[in-house]
Amino acid sequence: MHCVVIGAGVGGLSAAIALAARGVEVTVLERAATPGGKVRQLTVGGAVIDAGPTVFTMLHVFEALFDASGATFGDYVRVQPVAVLARHGWRDGTTLDLFADREQSTDAIGSFAGAAAARGFQRFAADAARSYATLEPHFITRQRSTPWGLAARIGAHRPRDLLSIKPFETLWAALGGYFSDPRLRQLFARYATYSGASPFAAPATLMLIAEVEARGVWAVDGGMFALARGLERRGRELGVRFRYGAEVAEIITGSKGVTGVVLASGEQVAADRIVVNADPAALAVSLFGASARRGVAAMPPARRSLSAMTWTGTARADGFPLVHHNVFFADDYRAEFDDIAAGRLPVSPSVYVCAPDHDRQAGLPAGGRLHMIVNAPAIGAALPGEALDRCETAMFDQLARCGLALDRRAGIRTTPADFAALFPATQGALYGRASHGWRASFQRPGARTRIPGLYLAGGATHPGAGVPMAAVSGRLAADALLSDRDHVSMGRSGRKATAGGTSTP
Ligand SMILES: Cc1cc2nc3c(=O)[nH]c(=O)nc-3n(C[C@H](O)[C@H](O)[C@H](O)COP(=O)(O)OP(=O)(O)OC[C@H]3O[C@@H](n4cnc5c(N)ncnc54)[C@H](O)[C@@H]3O)c2cc1C
Repeated sequence: MHCVVIGAGVGGLSAAIALAARGVEVTVLERAATPGGKVRQLTVGGAVIDAGPTVFTMLHVFEALFDASGATFGDYVRVQPVAVLARHGWRDGTTLDLFADREQSTDAIGSFAGAAAARGFQRFAADAARSYATLEPHFITRQRSTPWGLAARIGAHRPRDLLSIKPFETLWAALGGYFSDPRLRQLFARYATYSGASPFAAPATLMLIAEVEARGVWAVDGGMFALARGLERRGRELGVRFRYGAEVAEIITGSKGVTGVVLASGEQVAADRIVVNADPAALAVSLFGASARRGVAAMPPARRSLSAMTWTGTARADGFPLVHHNVFFADDYRAEFDDIAAGRLPVSPSVYVCAPDHDRQAGLPAGGRLHMIVNAPAIGAALPGEALDRCETAMFDQLARCGLALDRRAGIRTTPADFAALFPATQGALYGRASHGWRASFQRPGARTRIPGLYLAGGATHPGAGVPMAAVSGRLAADALLSDRDHVSMGRSGRKATAGGTSTP
């Protein structure tokens, strides 16, 4: 059996490893020149800088992927746990660190906002942990289910756990029950943006991301791009063929399902199965041809997740003691998300700053590497240049007001339009469908499509966005493909058959 994987993002690489480890012949076709997709690097003023994801969590997902392929993750990618999860700063000059050690975080919050806030944090952390413990085995690592399927799975024996996931309250509203200090509410609300959602519309379920982070954040030796290279290396060892600069223009389907793809060059590649790691929106808008369009339901543009404007470069930093991950909050969080919901760049943005060289700044005359991210609406090319310039100025102004002075040496701005060009059919939405409302998590497409033999993997697919979640989706795609194949071959030997890819979980 030959499987083509379209896209070498984390989901595609993970699916390729999981399939090849089970004996499937795999070819990965990637339009870019390197693996990783959103996990990408830019070379700026001679410095090589991670320009995509920077916060690496859920290490166990990758360890399990490699274990199942007969290898040890640590032999391919070296990681170190970080002690300070993130440093947070506000315009009034206050700062707060969250630590890998929960007691240390509780003490820091107590000193920052008082004993009631520390108790609020303990309650919040316990609820986030329960939500994660409930959803990880029943939702995140399983094929996509319906709300009723999930409720039956959890509720049958633990109805209180079902309530713990708080699907009907927004994250922002729920946080008011734990924290009266607006800065703490803002800090924990930010977790919604990890899945490209507004905290004012996302369900409180997303508090589980706080638990994900509390379970560990790791710094990857060589940067996040080393993860993509490590996955690619394991794939090659298992016999996966990688072709870069290979853009798929069409998925060919026949009466029994997929039969292959046509590259933009005109070359045809035959395939018995296909895993699409490109955004599923590309299928829905016919970027892979008219016949593949019926594979998934179209997503209304208003449901798109956040995009971003980023600045990746080098600068000498002064005045604020940066750590690896830093967040600088604007005064009015609601106004920031109101701007984005209205299709505007935020007038006064909060800014995430990754500073991998924070501990050796002084020894770098050209300045340390920095990667900054501001949330932005996913409206592709519709943002005018002046608006982008204003937002960039506001971003650096925000940092200065929080005490971080930057002497910039070199930098590259990446806009929602740039992301739209990198990831076709997304309009710059970086996380698929926004997790807004209780239904959204169930509306992401699952691994199986409506077309036999056609599967999906990636951050816009169940279980959702983020590097480890994309890896989980890659494994789920491989599992679905293999179980459908086995089902069909059992059918040939006399038992009931279901054509690959047609069943829904
Ligand atoms: C700025 C930024 C910051 C982020 N921060 C974090 C973070 O700190 N932590 C975290 O966990 N996550 C973060 N994320 C999210 C995370 O990066 C993504 O959810 C994850 O990497 C998505 O992986 P994926 O499998 O969906 O593939 P993608 O990365 O979306 O890659 C898809 C691949 O498909 C290829 N492709 C598309 N169409 C075709 C075609 N027609 N033919 C061939 N190839 C094609 C593309 O070129 C691309 O390489 C961030 C994302 C961004 C952009």
